[in-house]
Amino acid sequence: MRTILDEIDDVFHRVTREVVEYAEFVENPVLVLEDLTYIREPMDYGEFMNRRLHGWGFAKLHAQIRYKAVEKGIPVETVNPRNASKGCHACGEVGYRPRQATFNCPNDACWMSEYQADVNGAINIADRYLNGESHSREHTDGDDSAEDWGRLAAPQDT
Ligand SMILES: [Zn+2]
Repeated sequence: MRTILDEIDDVFHRVTREVVEYAEFVENPVLVLEDLTYIREPMDYGEFMNRRLHGWGFAKLHAQIRYKAVEKGIPVETVNPRNASKGCHACGEVGYRPRQATFNCPNDACWMSEYQADVNGAINIADRYLNGESHSREHTDGDDSAEDWGRLAAPQDT
């Protein structure tokens, strides 16, 4: 029987395939992921979904990206995602989100007043890698990542 988790899995496979295919067009690509061992910023799913689906979803997405990236020989790095969505990627000023998808920079001197919030966060993540903040202490050999992450592949009943 197909469940909602199977549906999500299909969506994840489509998305992660697109991510890795996109990366292939870049010269010397590196995929930079949020290190999942750090505390995630809360999302608005409510406590139950936060702990179950949110954690499960991120682990699943990352496992799929790692698996597909390894196949293509694309390195995957992680950085500490702390506050990555709170700062302006252009000037570093702490901004605010009038809506979930929108990031506003309050700095008058900054060229960037409004930006897509997820893209702003993604640029901050990429900048952290480029500034040498990456640490690939997990999965340095790459090959067994799918197995390692397998135990995170489904919500746990506790
Ligand atoms: Zn700014």
